Amino acid sequence: MTSIAFIGLGHMGGPMAANLVKNGFSVRGFDLSPALVSEAQGAGVIPCTSLAEAVGGAEVVITMLPAGKHVLSVWQELMTAVPAGTVLIDCSTIDIDSARKVHALAADAACPSLDAPVSGGTGGAVAGTLTFMVGGDPEVFSTAQPIFEAMGKRIILCGGASSGQAAKICNNMILGISMIAVCEAFVLGEKLGLSHQALFDVASVSSGQCWSLTTYCPVPGPVPTSPANADYNPGFAAALMLKDLKLSQAAAQATGAMTPLGARASELYDLFNQRGNGERDFSGIISLLRDQSGETSV
Ligand code: NAD
Repeated sequence: MTSIAFIGLGHMGGPMAANLVKNGFSVRGFDLSPALVSEAQGAGVIPCTSLAEAVGGAEVVITMLPAGKHVLSVWQELMTAVPAGTVLIDCSTIDIDSARKVHALAADAACPSLDAPVSGGTGGAVAGTLTFMVGGDPEVFSTAQPIFEAMGKRIILCGGASSGQAAKICNNMILGISMIAVCEAFVLGEKLGLSHQALFDVASVSSGQCWSLTTYCPVPGPVPTSPANADYNPGFAAALMLKDLKLSQAAAQATGAMTPLGARASELYDLFNQRGNGERDFSGIISLLRDQSGETSV
């Protein structure tokens, strides 16, 4: 299985396709942006000017697109363009309903399919260290394993169709809530005259410890590699965090799950985005909490 069509060569798809080439796969790439197709060509991807051209002869098709509506539209087009047996993998982060619909489309066309959203951001896409959360048939998963290994480090089969999307949405709901919790603690600490470093030194080895604190600390200083030290340049953009929180809330509504903190996190990221911060790192939401808290003590 060496011939792959890659559809969507943006921030994530471009470097992922490049890593497939580095690992010996033949990759034909297509994006609506000709500039991105040319950029991918520089990394060894065979440039294509249409979806049909890209998927011609491909044994596997990977999509990496903005949202569910794009994936649905591209997969509908794929159904008339690929023969039965072509393995279809969607790596985009999309809503559960669309994920189920595209699996059903593929099943009708006798094409094995996987949903395989990722975490790790653009840095992980470039370094080939993404985490893949995969939903689908275990045998199809095994067949596709070498493809995931060329782009990622941790590859987890989460269950049947759409389980990868479910895992991604639940994980990012934890992340959105935990980042706000850590930001709230720093803002309260500021009010109480506690230094950032002192709070970090205690919470990072105590029960408040979490990824949002120890890897992605939202104040500059304690974790020198966190986006707070680079004026909140992403990283993981606040617009993408809002997108994922909204997906979690749509799923919570559809299933009746009670997620009050997820709902509040979604509202706060919505406000942060409305104030023009969509392109900033999501840890920058600490500024919204500070603004709403009035003047700080340190
Ligand atoms: P992006 O906007 O940079 O790339 C998406 C690309 O899809 C664009 O280049 C666009 O031109 C192309 N596209 C749209 N419709 C198309 C079509 N019909 N045919 C061909 N190409 C089409 O987005 P991204 O940052 O690469 O993210 C892609 C997906 O990965 C999203 O679902 C996002 O939520 C998810 N994701 C992103 C990150 C991140 O840090 N950027 C991290 C994890 C997951």
